[in-house]
Amino acid sequence: MLQHRSLAGRALPGAQQRPCVASARRVIVRAKEPIVAATTLLEKEQEAAPSAAPGRGAAGAPSTSGSKWVIDESELLTSTAEHRAWTFGPMALMGAALAVAGSHVDGPGGALSAASAVLAAYVLSDLGTGVYHWSVDNYGDGSTPVFGRQIAAFQGHHVRPWTITQREFCNNVHQVFKPAAYPAGGMLLLSPVLGVWPGFFLPSFLFLVCMSQQFHAWSHMKKSELPAAVVALQDAGVLIGRAAHGAHHRPNFEGNYCIVSGWWNQALDDSGFFRWLEKVVVATTGVEPRCWYPPEHGWIEEVRPQAK
Ligand SMILES: [Zn+2]
Ligand SMILES: [Zn+2]
Repeated sequence: MLQHRSLAGRALPGAQQRPCVASARRVIVRAKEPIVAATTLLEKEQEAAPSAAPGRGAAGAPSTSGSKWVIDESELLTSTAEHRAWTFGPMALMGAALAVAGSHVDGPGGALSAASAVLAAYVLSDLGTGVYHWSVDNYGDGSTPVFGRQIAAFQGHHVRPWTITQREFCNNVHQVFKPAAYPAGGMLLLSPVLGVWPGFFLPSFLFLVCMSQQFHAWSHMKKSELPAAVVALQDAGVLIGRAAHGAHHRPNFEGNYCIVSGWWNQALDDSGFFRWLEKVVVATTGVEPRCWYPPEHGWIEEVRPQAK
């Protein structure tokens, strides 16, 4: 028997489940300035969800008991010292690994190898973000081990997509750079023995995947809100643009998952790659993806409130 909505279909609480917010452990710092309709994910008290029964409740409303994360509306959007440390620290590790790789370049052949590695990292990072985005949009929920917070954040983004545009840079990207600190450290340790090509490819790939969080934010902004250089890169197709990513934000959120350049989106969607992958997942695990069904109540995109 298929297990649709046992893992894939459990909804996180939306605005209709405010009582859950009351049971959340407050771990946020409030900004001095009033914040309009920002959201964050708060870790619930473990004892607040003793019965993690998945799926919908008896009355057909989304189950709120199974998720470890809930949405809060008084989120800090500015960057803190901790956000900056978790952004620039891993960036420094990646930069140091690249510097070691650079010290191995000797002559035009090495330079060509380094350039091809960076180009490959750019092209493949788009594919990597697409596969990752597809997986967290469609499987698991806020209580999934390790990835629960990321899953809840991606799915919460479908409900309130404007929130990502309100975050300062380090506030936004530290969420991805922080877990990347560990592979970045590993790359730096290995860098003395890596050749030029892997020495350039690995840190470049990791950096671009982390930066996709910001490329994604830029794709939700109007051109008038963006630096001219970003608009130029979007217009040139180097970075994913507003129209290309906007195509993802249509129920059932079943395509256009790539968020670096978006180059892979058409090939992946036209070829039916993700539908094939979903059938493989169903055949092997019995779990259906969310995108096979309309979004559950509470996960339909809300209207952006007007700033006062
Ligand atoms: Zn999505
Ligand atoms: Zn988006």
